[in-house]
Amino acid sequence: MKLDHSFAEELTALASEVKPIKLKNSRLEVFNHDLATELDLPSEWQNETHLFSALYAQDGALNRCSVAQKYGGHQFGHWNPELGDGRGLLLAETIDLQRQRWDLHLKGAGPTPYSRFADGRAVLRSTIREYLASEALHSLGIPTSRALCLISSDDPIYREKQERAAKMIRVCQSHLRFGHFEYFYHSKQPEKLQSLFDYCFKYHFSDCAEAESPYLAMLEKIVHDTAKLIAKWQAFGFNHGVMNTDNMSIHGITFDYGPYAFLDDFEPTFICNHSDPQGRYSFDSQPGIGLWNLNALAQTFTPHLEIEQIKQALNSYEPTLLKEYSTLMHNKLGLLPQPAFVEANSKIINTWLDLLAFEKKDYSVTFRQLCKFDILGGNQKLRDQFINRDRFDEWAEHYTLALKEQGMNQTQRQTKMRQHNPHIVLRNYLAQQIIDRAEEGNFEMFHQFIDALKKPYEEIEKYQKFSAPPPDWGKQLEISCSS
Ligand code: AMP
Ligand code: MG
Repeated sequence: MKLDHSFAEELTALASEVKPIKLKNSRLEVFNHDLATELDLPSEWQNETHLFSALYAQDGALNRCSVAQKYGGHQFGHWNPELGDGRGLLLAETIDLQRQRWDLHLKGAGPTPYSRFADGRAVLRSTIREYLASEALHSLGIPTSRALCLISSDDPIYREKQERAAKMIRVCQSHLRFGHFEYFYHSKQPEKLQSLFDYCFKYHFSDCAEAESPYLAMLEKIVHDTAKLIAKWQAFGFNHGVMNTDNMSIHGITFDYGPYAFLDDFEPTFICNHSDPQGRYSFDSQPGIGLWNLNALAQTFTPHLEIEQIKQALNSYEPTLLKEYSTLMHNKLGLLPQPAFVEANSKIINTWLDLLAFEKKDYSVTFRQLCKFDILGGNQKLRDQFINRDRFDEWAEHYTLALKEQGMNQTQRQTKMRQHNPHIVLRNYLAQQIIDRAEEGNFEMFHQFIDALKKPYEEIEKYQKFSAPPPDWGKQLEISCSS
């Protein structure tokens, strides 16, 4: 295995050399063996002594060329040129057996030139939340950064209360954000913007580099991947919470986890981020914000593309997102996406969502219950949960007719639906219980949950406890950006 440093060496204007600091009584608490194997990483890294030596020894494999990245970003709609890795470091890049390049990035690494007034640390709570979320989204097939390991410590740090510092190593294709491009564009550094594009064509968009119009191909790919990603968030009920352009990956992956949430009760206007009272990043705003962010990125392509070409790329966003969303929702409801049925099916899907929203039904549990819907007998247990039975019955009648007309074998349909409606979902109340125990030094529930996430569509007896909707206290959790 060879470690590479293409970003640090070739994009020097965006990289500041910084070494990670060691925290008091650091412990390698969690190591993701499956991911390490997938990436062909050195097996000795799962050993704390070896990993810490790579991270902290002089000229260690993971600190030899570690850098903090400079970027900017539109935060809540406002341009901020002052951003960068304030507490994260790109340690190295690794190339797996399929020749895919992966960044190894340490979150909670210590202060950097971009820390501004903050401490460069991450709390245990936020590293656990990121670890859980990235594994949860990955298990559902939603593109995301991954978590390689979690390191706890006894270093006290202060947020709303005293907490303990921790670190995690994040893995993804690259940490290139929309905000990297915007930074050079808005600070009027066209040569540097050009070197960033050249770097992308060399390492990450080599297919586009060979296209007739490489810049158009690259923008179209980012638009396409972002649209598909956000369609998946909407179908699985995931609210990211801080879709600033510095948190948007050019690889169309879920990235930079903060106050995210999977929906409990289905409220389309749900806001998971306590610091976003206006709801700019509410659940149902995500598709529109995705396009807003792509517009901000597209502006940086203007030296290379005509306005008509940019419009062409951006115009593909909505149809791509809607098509992907429609496919996912057809799967969730066991409907066939044949063109002849799509219009009627869309109506059934939308009315079902209206029904869930009107009665604030638990998004995941209700979909899972729908998997038992019987074209002869309906689903009494499901029906009983709706206060407005007439409304439910009216919908169920249309749904039954559609299912009969589309003629899929009932058992097959139910089995297929169970493969698209997860039984185990990372809810905030579960994350909170896992965190509460971990803060006392007990990671057992963490490990159990990670194991349960390996098969989120299966009803495994010992993990039934993770499938329950939240208790009342668990619905009111306030998650802020302070992490
Ligand atoms: P985020 O909301 O996590 O996307 O962070 C926004 C910006 O604040 C980024 O530039 C981060 O690097 C920086 N930041 C967040 N937390 C800290 C911290 N504890 N210390 C230094 N910088 C931070
Ligand atoms: Mg960020």
